[in-house]
Amino acid sequence: MPEANPARESMAYDVVIVGGGPAGLAAAIRLKQLSSDINVCLLEKGSEIGAHILSGAVLDPKALTELIPDWKNKGAPVDTAVTQDRFWFFTQSAAIALPHIMFPPLMSNRGNFIISLSNLCKWLGRQAEALGVEIYPGFPAHDLIIEDGVVKGVITGDLGVAKDGHHKDSYTPGMELRAKYTLFAEGARGSLSKQLGAKFGLHDGRQPQKFGIGLKELWELPAAQHQKGLVLHGMGWPLGNDTGGGLFLYHWGDNLCSIGFVVHLNYKNPWLDPFGEFQRAKTHPAIAKMLSGGKRIGYGARAITEGGYQSVPKLSFPGGALIGCAAGFVNLPRIKGSHNAMKTGMLAAEAAAAAIQAGRAGDALEDYDRAYVQSWVAKDLYLVRNAKPLWSRLGSLLALPFIGLDLWMNQLFGVSLFGTLGHGEPDFATLRPASGCVKIAYPKPDGRLTFDRASSLFLSGTNHEEDQPVHLQLRDPAIPISVNLPEYAEPAQRYCPAGVYEVIEESTGPRFQINAQNCVHCKTCDIKDPAQNITWVTPEGGGGPNYTNM
Ligand SMILES: Cc1cc2nc3c(=O)[nH]c(=O)nc-3n(C[C@H](O)[C@H](O)[C@H](O)COP(=O)(O)OP(=O)(O)OC[C@H]3O[C@@H](n4cnc5c(N)ncnc54)[C@H](O)[C@@H]3O)c2cc1C
Ligand code: SF4
Repeated sequence: MPEANPARESMAYDVVIVGGGPAGLAAAIRLKQLSSDINVCLLEKGSEIGAHILSGAVLDPKALTELIPDWKNKGAPVDTAVTQDRFWFFTQSAAIALPHIMFPPLMSNRGNFIISLSNLCKWLGRQAEALGVEIYPGFPAHDLIIEDGVVKGVITGDLGVAKDGHHKDSYTPGMELRAKYTLFAEGARGSLSKQLGAKFGLHDGRQPQKFGIGLKELWELPAAQHQKGLVLHGMGWPLGNDTGGGLFLYHWGDNLCSIGFVVHLNYKNPWLDPFGEFQRAKTHPAIAKMLSGGKRIGYGARAITEGGYQSVPKLSFPGGALIGCAAGFVNLPRIKGSHNAMKTGMLAAEAAAAAIQAGRAGDALEDYDRAYVQSWVAKDLYLVRNAKPLWSRLGSLLALPFIGLDLWMNQLFGVSLFGTLGHGEPDFATLRPASGCVKIAYPKPDGRLTFDRASSLFLSGTNHEEDQPVHLQLRDPAIPISVNLPEYAEPAQRYCPAGVYEVIEESTGPRFQINAQNCVHCKTCDIKDPAQNITWVTPEGGGGPNYTNM
């Protein structure tokens, strides 16, 4: 039986920041740059800063340069300049190089860098600490403190609660962290950001947020095969025409290759398995050749926001604001969101600092909403706003020339032939009944180029205390077997990149099993479950993946 919580300790700050990704760290640094008197606390659920950060990543250094102009001299891990920028369309046997002229300069990677975003966050964390930001890794913000309609801070997760809710000897209640303003930088599908969106109607009148699931592996390649600075993006096979997504492959550092695959979560066929699609993509002759003789050393997955301009919610509410991908600022055709995450963190920090200096607290930082609209982030997203809707409507093949044309029109004349298209249904509503869809057979992994989930998971370093309440909460525990299984062949078995969900056949019938300790915190289940029955909440602090160089 769950036990009652004893009184919690409470601490007060000027600003509490939830999440130590690029958005949260940039906000923390900006606040301290503006005034060393503003006290700032940053909470991160990972065991250390960067442990839960997974990205491509090609970095547009614009925001980093605005934040820390001498980042090079300060030793930022931003070393591999992009030297080659290729775009391929895959058929099953061929890779067709698309000419650069198809896409306008806004798509170019000239001046960008291939990095590990996880490593950049570690470095940003050190810069923030040097400025006096209090950083607490291993401390998830589990609950909101809302009083009289104002967000007054957050409560960190309890430690030492057993699976059945009783308090173990190690029980330590979470703390109240109160603040004049709380900035939510939880990234895509933040658990508290989702509650805030509903509570304050932040998404009212906006298009639904759209998402993809990004799966990634890190490889070490033979030196002779490594082309430092190579950026390759691809679309087409193995995905069918009606499923959006594609491959990315970046050569960087000392013989490292980041290879990943994004599947848009508005896919329709419940038999589709994004992990299986990624493994198949690597078997394309052109990709297999690039990886031959290499060794896989890392694996992980994370949701990515894709809604862009039309889906940006209202950003501020009484006592706080959403920053970075908690709101969703990814430029989908460029597959870039880090620069926008950092910039929106900085804009919110500027609004919060001005408010605090003016003696305000707990109001809505409307100046931040206004600053976003005027910023280069809004412009970045506006120019590409129709790429995702065109892709969803037309399918990959037909969309490609239209997206190219639309991007050129936007870049040259600032107009689109399509106005601003909507996104249609939210991602959870796009699945079709399994009985009417083609079952997809995925080849067995060979353990060399393609792998199973178990060995992949091992490389993610994911780890959770086993005796704790399940952090994947089912509103109705019957739905997976009574509704999702007959209707959609329970797609959670396939869309989860970590094998968390299983349907076990027993003599009494099928049983839904949740292996919560495997979770890599990608948030896909919270997004894609057709019944919206799964809620991801923060597990005990420090649990989850331990990414290095991701
Ligand atoms: C596969 C993939 C490839 C990508 N490629 C690129 C690319 O090449 N270039 C690019 O610019 N962008 C890329 N992106 C997008 C980019 O990674 C994001 O835009 C960026 O990471 C968003 O930063 P953020 O700080 O808002 O969120 P995140 O980077 O997601 O960071 C959020 C942080 O908050 C923590 N957190 C969440 N909830 C809580 C809580 N309740 N309490 C405490 N801590 C919490 C998380 O653990 C995490 O550390 C890619 C994304 C993916 C998934
Ligand atoms: S359980 Fe959900 S959040 Fe965790 S890895 Fe699976 S899909 Fe992602």
